[in-house]
Amino acid sequence: MASTPEPTDRMAEYCPTCRAERPHDVSVTLVTESDTTANAAYSREPYRVSECLDCGRRTERRMNDA
Ligand SMILES: [Zn+2]
Repeated sequence: MASTPEPTDRMAEYCPTCRAERPHDVSVTLVTESDTTANAAYSREPYRVSECLDCGRRTERRMNDA
């Protein structure tokens, strides 16, 4: 049996596509945002990614709302 990757949290969240609460694969990913600003060369912003295990709908939400 292949080794399993890091366990992901499965959260029951409302899915607008399924129109019901469905288990979601929730993870946090760092997205590198290149900015034209000289000082902030690279800013890595954490995004919360949740994917509906039922229909595969992916929702990304920026965690730091500036
Ligand atoms: Zn869904």
